[in-house]
Amino acid sequence: MKIAGFTGFASARLQRKQAWRWLLPILLVLLFLSILIWLPWQVRQMEVSERQEQLIADTLWVEQAIRFQLSRNEENFGQVGAEIANGYLPPDKLRERTMLLLKNSREIQRVMWLDATGAIVASSDLRANGPPRLSQASAEVSANARKLKSAQYSQPVKTVSAAGVPGLTLMDCYLPIFNDGQYSGSLVIRYALQDILNEMVPWWFAQDNEIVLTDNDDAVFAMRAAGGLGRGVYTHRHTLELPGAAVYLRTNSVKSAPTLLPNLLVGSIILLSLGLIWSLWALWRDINRRLAAEGALREQVAFRMAMENSLVTGLRARDLKGRISYVNPAFCRMVGLSADQLLNKAPPMPYWAPEAIEDYEERFAQVLAGTVQQHGFEIMFQRASGERFPVLIYESPLLDDSGRQTGWMGSILDISDRKKVEELNRQQQEKLQSSARLATMGELASTLAHELNQPLAAISSYTAGAINLMQSGVVDAALLQPALEKANAQVQRAGLIIRSVHEFVKRREPTREPVSMENLIDSVMPLIELQAQQCFVAIQVSIAPGLPAVLADRVMLEQVLLNLTRNAIEAMQQVPSERRILRISVSTDRVHPDTEPAPANVIVSVIDQGHGIAPEVAEHLFSPFFSTKAEGMGIGLKICRTTLEFHGGTLNYVNNPLGGTIFRFSLPPHLPE
Ligand code: ADP
Repeated sequence: MKIAGFTGFASARLQRKQAWRWLLPILLVLLFLSILIWLPWQVRQMEVSERQEQLIADTLWVEQAIRFQLSRNEENFGQVGAEIANGYLPPDKLRERTMLLLKNSREIQRVMWLDATGAIVASSDLRANGPPRLSQASAEVSANARKLKSAQYSQPVKTVSAAGVPGLTLMDCYLPIFNDGQYSGSLVIRYALQDILNEMVPWWFAQDNEIVLTDNDDAVFAMRAAGGLGRGVYTHRHTLELPGAAVYLRTNSVKSAPTLLPNLLVGSIILLSLGLIWSLWALWRDINRRLAAEGALREQVAFRMAMENSLVTGLRARDLKGRISYVNPAFCRMVGLSADQLLNKAPPMPYWAPEAIEDYEERFAQVLAGTVQQHGFEIMFQRASGERFPVLIYESPLLDDSGRQTGWMGSILDISDRKKVEELNRQQQEKLQSSARLATMGELASTLAHELNQPLAAISSYTAGAINLMQSGVVDAALLQPALEKANAQVQRAGLIIRSVHEFVKRREPTREPVSMENLIDSVMPLIELQAQQCFVAIQVSIAPGLPAVLADRVMLEQVLLNLTRNAIEAMQQVPSERRILRISVSTDRVHPDTEPAPANVIVSVIDQGHGIAPEVAEHLFSPFFSTKAEGMGIGLKICRTTLEFHGGTLNYVNNPLGGTIFRFSLPPHLPE
């Protein structure tokens, strides 16, 4: 939980940090992108205004050119006017005089000479629209010219043919003629506005623009659109500033607004920014992936560290030369040395007990040779304080990612506590057995007293007889000897009884020796008989020939036998006397002695015909302190089973088909080496 909490907090902080780390580059990229977007737009705007300015300049230039041409015409025809005023030019010579001028200025339709009343005196020719006519407006312009003594233009007028077909738009320029300050008429230059555009606007300008002459209200007088109609994007309007007439020059470029994409610069900028965004995104994704991997790794390491630190098993890694490359805290605690004191140490190790150096070296050689046993081995280690403690070591090869062996990994268990518990258990068991023996002895004590009475009484009567004989003066050795021999035999018997009790009760360490079952039954028989006689139970012993000996503690086995026989005898106390038979049979578990290979287990059965074992009793039969007897301790069977298991044997029971119970134990045979 602690680790999860810690890593959770750490990862939240990490995420906050990451968010901050990305803020600046994101802002910069956004700024860069907005500049990138703004830049082409700005370039386009500049281009638009540049084109517009260019158009204005060109328009002004054209306007200047037209005006210049018109003024030159005014000048040229002013001279003609002067010649008329001076009388050098008769009316019939006008055509001849103006021919060259008209040829050079093709925008002029005709030139007319008017007298002071406004009547046409002469005209340069009669081309186009029939005989010259002057409008009402023209008369007004003429009056103005006369009044102002300068050239005046009439407002252009659209002509319509007799058939109603629209014709040219014409504009007249009145040049007043004064003779000695006396107005004597005027010279009228008639312009076709379409020709003004055709003649005076340079072709290159006309190619790029639609040029229109309009009035004040944008009504079109003439138009030239050699390069097509204007797009309405770049336009300019400027007055021609003709005295008396409101004529405007309007230009409309055929060029459309500049488009963004064809611009190579814009294209490459867009491409570059896309590339930049993509690479940033890829970088971001890559870094995120790395950070995630790092986070997972950090969590793993923290988890592993926590696991290692909380382990109670010592871990130790060694390289191929046997040098320590890793120890966990549990191992350091176990041997009382710090990791620094252990790392890179080669044998002999500081935790080896000096007296067992040879053992270690042998083990170490086994480890290096790879022949060490897999199920672990016990050995003594030494703490820094000098205290020895037993450990259980499991060694296994240490493999790297590619499966190559890089050393050995050992897990070390401090088993001193386990050993202590085992020892304690053993002592407890021994005490229990000793108390059980004492309890049995208590029971035996009364029967023993009774039993000893018999030999003692017999001894007493034999010795009394012998004394009587001696007192009566018979000192015949032949008479005395049988009595004394019988007395001696009784003493032997009493001694045997006492010794067996003594042997039985004596507390001692268990010692194993090869024990023959026959022999064992013989030695314990006096005690069994003692109980059997009391309860009027007959004993039958059958021992199969050629049985192997068992490796056992003789006294412990005696106790087992005594327990089982005592239980059997007690179970038969209430049955009719003819059924009170205790049978002890010893055999092996070999069913076919000829075919089955030796060795076979030795089986001892204690068979009674008593009250048997009820199911409710059977459940607790081997539980300690379970007894159905008033004075029973209930530990007999439990001890028997533990004892037999201690010897590698088993104890169980079956119901006797004849009634009663059969307790049966088996022991592995002793195989002499
Ligand atoms: P205890 O003899 O002190 O009662 P045991 O552990 O030897 O303790 O026996 C436990 C119980 O098992 C006995 O009280 C008895 O009821 C039952 N028992 C043991 N042996 C026999 C037997 N041969 N026949 C019937 N009951 C038996």
